[in-house]
Amino acid sequence: MAYTREIHTLIIGAGTSGLLVAQGLKKAGLPYSIFEQESSSAYQTRPREWGMTLHWGSSHVSKCLPPELVERMAEAYADPTVAPDAVTGLPIYNGKTGELIFEMKAERPCRVSRKKMRNLFSEGLDVSYGKDLVEIVEDGEKVRAVFRDGTEAVGDVIVGCDGAHSRTRTCICGEEGAGLTTVPLSMFNFTQTFTAEQAMYLRKLNPLFITSIHPDHGTMFWISIQNVPDPGKPETWMYQLLMSWINNPLSEEENTYEGRLAFFKKRSEEWAEPWKSAGRWVKDGTQIPMDPGTYWEKAAPWDSRGGKMTLCGDAAHPMTPHRGQGLNNALQDSSNFVAAIQEAAGGTKSLTEAVAAYDKEVLERGTLEMQVSLKQTMFIHNWETLMQSPMVKMGMHQAKKEKARTSEEAATE
Ligand SMILES: Cc1cc2nc3c(=O)[nH]c(=O)nc-3n(C[C@H](O)[C@H](O)[C@H](O)COP(=O)(O)OP(=O)(O)OC[C@H]3O[C@@H](n4cnc5c(N)ncnc54)[C@H](O)[C@@H]3O)c2cc1C
Repeated sequence: MAYTREIHTLIIGAGTSGLLVAQGLKKAGLPYSIFEQESSSAYQTRPREWGMTLHWGSSHVSKCLPPELVERMAEAYADPTVAPDAVTGLPIYNGKTGELIFEMKAERPCRVSRKKMRNLFSEGLDVSYGKDLVEIVEDGEKVRAVFRDGTEAVGDVIVGCDGAHSRTRTCICGEEGAGLTTVPLSMFNFTQTFTAEQAMYLRKLNPLFITSIHPDHGTMFWISIQNVPDPGKPETWMYQLLMSWINNPLSEEENTYEGRLAFFKKRSEEWAEPWKSAGRWVKDGTQIPMDPGTYWEKAAPWDSRGGKMTLCGDAAHPMTPHRGQGLNNALQDSSNFVAAIQEAAGGTKSLTEAVAAYDKEVLERGTLEMQVSLKQTMFIHNWETLMQSPMVKMGMHQAKKEKARTSEEAATE
């Protein structure tokens, strides 16, 4: 494509969305610079990583990645030997009896490792590490990113791909407008390896993931495969365990690593197999963090300062994770952003118009999904409302205005 205007994009954050934007711009022959707050070593040794279900969002990956990386997509899978058509959805069980209640349908679902996906998407990119954005300054027609180390970068547009606690969002919307709302959700999300026999036992029901809701208190207990370094050595397989519930029954004294592990093990005893055994097999000394659920309740049209600054991925729509939509939407944002910059560089739209159209769609889609995901989170943690949650009508499919309305109506019937 011939371009009539040079537009240099500054990408803040080298998570999945930022890297995909960079790959897409590179593929389109458009200039960019990408900045990550962490040092390159901290980026590779993060104490916390998790897996994600990639499903409807995968079509957006191939729009941005070069064909040679698309071909290597399996390198990002938790288990590269499990093809995306091996599984049709997420099976959900009654935690007390072990009966299958429902399968949450999804389009070619696969579990990807957040870390492996970042490493694949980083290939061929020159990421500037140790660049923590602190401020954005308008500079005539240009825009300037100011980093904590005192350095600066100048471009035509800044895209904030800096995650749920986005500094870019704060720079654009102010502290008050960018602030997140905490919902009364408590989540233990951690990883574990097991003995070879135990590891194989935990994959018997499904090669990727299983989840369950306990009817007595609505607690969710999820088990998924997160990394299979050697398919022939199950003792190397890393699992992701996630237990979540509404409100926090732990007192301040109990809310320590020891207290949380004791709570987790005690609660696991109330489960059917294989969750009960998984709980018993979690090793002594395992440090379990506790996270709340958050989302951007105040999401509203933001001022892009004439197309000079915008948001992408979790920065634009941080959401609760129980519908598995954050990554999938982030991938669509990335590919849409690249298309918007192509339009502006090609002269079919001004940068202001192209970014305004991009912003409108992202905000609408993101706000809808934040609401649907929140409903899912609140409804699945209660046995009485479980079967009215969005997953029953929508599965893991993308929320569309019409379907979401139907599901809202169904939920209130
Ligand atoms: C437990 C859990 C399970 C999930 N499961 C799923 C799932 O099954 N399916 C799904 O679709 N989604 C899922 N998600 C959501 C998914 O993880 C996110 O939507 C996705 O990772 C967002 O990617 P991102 O690139 O927007 O943000 P991030 O991956 O958070 O990347 C942001 C990057 O920006 C950097 N950064 C931050 N601040 C700055 C700064 N000031 N300057 C420079 N760099 C900065 C960060 O270091 C980071 O590298 C889950 C989330 C959780 C918590």
